[in-house]
Amino acid sequence: MRREQTEPDVLMPVLFVGHGSPMNGIEDSAFVRGWQEAAKRLPRPKAILCVSAHWETDGTQVTAVEQPRTIHDFGGFPRELYEIAYPAPGDPALAQEVVRRMTHTKVSLDRRWGLDHGCWVVLRRMFPAADIPVVQLSLDHAQPAARHYEVGAELASLRRAGVLVVASGNIVHNLGMAKVRGEDFNEPYGFDWAIEASQLFKKLISQRRHDALCDYESLGRAARLAVPTPEHFLPVLYALALREPDEPLEWFNDVPVAGSLTMTSFILPGAWPRRPQPSPM
Ligand code: ZN
Repeated sequence: MRREQTEPDVLMPVLFVGHGSPMNGIEDSAFVRGWQEAAKRLPRPKAILCVSAHWETDGTQVTAVEQPRTIHDFGGFPRELYEIAYPAPGDPALAQEVVRRMTHTKVSLDRRWGLDHGCWVVLRRMFPAADIPVVQLSLDHAQPAARHYEVGAELASLRRAGVLVVASGNIVHNLGMAKVRGEDFNEPYGFDWAIEASQLFKKLISQRRHDALCDYESLGRAARLAVPTPEHFLPVLYALALREPDEPLEWFNDVPVAGSLTMTSFILPGAWPRRPQPSPM
């Protein structure tokens, strides 16, 4: 079955979500509530395409199984977290559609991956019914950031095909330097360099300076500390590549945690016909 080519009335929103600790998959927090508030603002998607920091591959791949498994790709967390399954179905037809639409990128169908924690930790809080099909697109670890931006741009037509793109990483993410204050990983707290880098990245995002963001390695010491490895930053570029010329960008969960991470997230709100609100009596 081939889905509708276009639905010109609907431009699906796009999300970039700072996912932080895997415990956000089961614990309540202000960040989880931020994700849930964002989810309430969305039209119901036909499917979700997730670009997660936690799936890096040779070449670009897209999951193409009927029922993706839940991957617990972390260590040292409570048993309860390993028992969580997020049973959303896959969407092999959408995976094939992604391959067909991405004419400048060779995309391979993958039948071994499932949903990693960058994906399911967020989606199970936003869409707890697990009834919307999910596919994941991998990060080709051999490619420079600018190339990831180009791959992201190739997903644009999916926004008019009812597909919600969710990019999941952290704009500032240096786990090696993380320092949790007290018991709670989510307690707001940022090192000076993390706050400086966050402000710089947010300014460049607001100014649509996507070239500078792709060249993040040239942005100085704070940026280098914020992005010691690319995988949590690259999903930002996939989301930004989908921003329409006049589309606003709205921040949420804009808070540093554990000194060296930010939970900063944003939504590109898209456009769709809203149902008329019932008029007050
Ligand atoms: Zn992560």
